[in-house]
Amino acid sequence: MNDKEARLRRLPSVDSLLGQTPIQELIDSHSRELVIDSIRQTIDSARQAIVDSRPVETDLRALLSRVEQHLRESTRPSLRPVINATGVIIHTNLGRAVLSVAAREAMLAAASSYNNLEFDLGTGKRGSRLSHAGQLLRALTGAEDAVVVNNNASALVLILSALAQDREVVISRGQLVEIGGGFRIPDIMRESGAHLVEVGTTNRTRTADFAAALSERAAMLLRVHASNFKQVGFVEQPPLSELAALARERGLLAVDDLGSGTLLDTASFGLEREPTIQESVAAGVDLVCFSGDKLLGGPQAGIIVGRSGAIEALKRHPLARALRVDKLTYAALIATLQHYRRGEALKCIPVWQMISRPLDDIRARASFWAEAVGGVIIEGESTVGGGSLPGATLPTALLAVDCDAPDLITARLRQAETPVIARIADGRVLLDPRTVLPAQDEALLQALQDAI
Ligand SMILES: *Cc1c(COP(=O)(O)O)cnc(C)c1O
Repeated sequence: MNDKEARLRRLPSVDSLLGQTPIQELIDSHSRELVIDSIRQTIDSARQAIVDSRPVETDLRALLSRVEQHLRESTRPSLRPVINATGVIIHTNLGRAVLSVAAREAMLAAASSYNNLEFDLGTGKRGSRLSHAGQLLRALTGAEDAVVVNNNASALVLILSALAQDREVVISRGQLVEIGGGFRIPDIMRESGAHLVEVGTTNRTRTADFAAALSERAAMLLRVHASNFKQVGFVEQPPLSELAALARERGLLAVDDLGSGTLLDTASFGLEREPTIQESVAAGVDLVCFSGDKLLGGPQAGIIVGRSGAIEALKRHPLARALRVDKLTYAALIATLQHYRRGEALKCIPVWQMISRPLDDIRARASFWAEAVGGVIIEGESTVGGGSLPGATLPTALLAVDCDAPDLITARLRQAETPVIARIADGRVLLDPRTVLPAQDEALLQALQDAI
């Protein structure tokens, strides 16, 4: 009998592991099925390692500890909190906007009790959920009415399906964009049954180009904000107010997909100017749509504001039912909008706290990290991200950790109890305090210590 066979024979059976006291304790706190599954997987992978001549510890203690680890990993929720040390404030892969304390509390309250989601407390009759954020959105944007759907992509689908099906939508060639994740404006139009009419050229389009392209079948002029790229040089797009005026003159609709959309002026923070929602409404377009979880800093949602007739048509369309949002989203969105209404958005909404965080504070935090785990402080740049302000950056201070294998360090950081997402540049691991929540400092430092 060779050595391999001997080792295979010595592997304990599932039953013999089940008799061990630590395993009994695991069964008490989990379930018998889950624990048996972890034992099986542990023994199977040990067996496979022996067969493949890979090193593996097969003593009882090592096996028990691997059962426990397997159980921990297999019962961990797949969606978990992570620490965003990338300096990208609205990071789509990391869940975009972190919600304010008030928004989180509102979600908890909505989840913990019945509520008046579709109930009119005045009349005691059925109410409409679609009316909930309406008043705040009217007050904040100056629009006549509003409707909220699942996200901004679905807002566009609803607008095009309800108001331009089988008709023509005119758009500048420079705005036939891909937003990300394969979401392309021409595809959305096709799916919604609208016919795309491109006008102008990649770099220059004028109002006259739109006017010349309007046929009997035209329904809408659409502007799409170039959220994630920048055109510079010999470029021109018609002012929104001209498009709105042209649409009105011809009895058509003008629609502005702002993408991120913002209620605050980003130029006050040394950033470029992202067009504001109020400006688009004031320019006279019929509908403006934007995301809830980009610069607004709220939950995932697609918010459409505009003229009451057009909003009413959207609310009546069957897709509005399919794309509607739940009570938790309304709760978080209303709480977020209230911050703007009370003039406390900068103070209370994490996205704006991060944008407006003073460089000195960021540097002090990076120094505190360096004292705890080593590394040096270097100048760097944070970005807003999330399809807003392409190319715009905020000066920041980074903790730079020199190491032989930065890939290995970032991989270890991702395996931490609370995974840490960092970037690598010039062979160093870089961590940006701007996007790390203050409450996560301790977990970050622990993860860094373990990784280095
Ligand atoms: C981000 C973006 C969208 C999609 O918004 P979601 O809320 O992510 O669905 C649509 N249009 C533009 C211009 C965008 O920037």
